[in-house]
Amino acid sequence: MCEADRGSGLLTTFLEQNDAPCPVCSYSLRRLTSDKCPECGATVELRVGSVDLKLAWWIALLLALAIPFGFAVILVGFTGAHAALIFWYGDRELIELWIRQMWPFIVLSGLSGPLLVAAIRRRRRFWRLRRSRQRLWFCCTVVLMVLSLGACFWWTV
Ligand SMILES: [Zn+2]
Repeated sequence: MCEADRGSGLLTTFLEQNDAPCPVCSYSLRRLTSDKCPECGATVELRVGSVDLKLAWWIALLLALAIPFGFAVILVGFTGAHAALIFWYGDRELIELWIRQMWPFIVLSGLSGPLLVAAIRRRRRFWRLRRSRQRLWFCCTVVLMVLSLGACFWWTV
């Protein structure tokens, strides 16, 4: 018996005695005889989940990184496209001004982007931390991002 057949057997055994809705269409799967929902045809499987996933601080951390990253990328992208057009028509002074004003935002996106990727890739390690440690990571990230954004605006103005 292969892993898939055993999983399907466990699923049908579970659904003989328990009721569960289809995750796609919410149709009741009680007494299901295969791994396909009879209503919508979705393949279903039996899984083990945790009711105690500590996601709140991780989601907050992602937002603390994604908001400055998105802001910097949109700002640099939008003004960069405009500056490139002006450069195309021969105004080299304006492109130098753009580089002088935008480089902190380029650095900010270069800082927050990889941190965002690291937060996603190392999520399981983050989830295992105590909540006080998660909160500390979040607070340090917010302080770093606020200081970085502040430095960007201070430099630009
Ligand atoms: Zn369904």
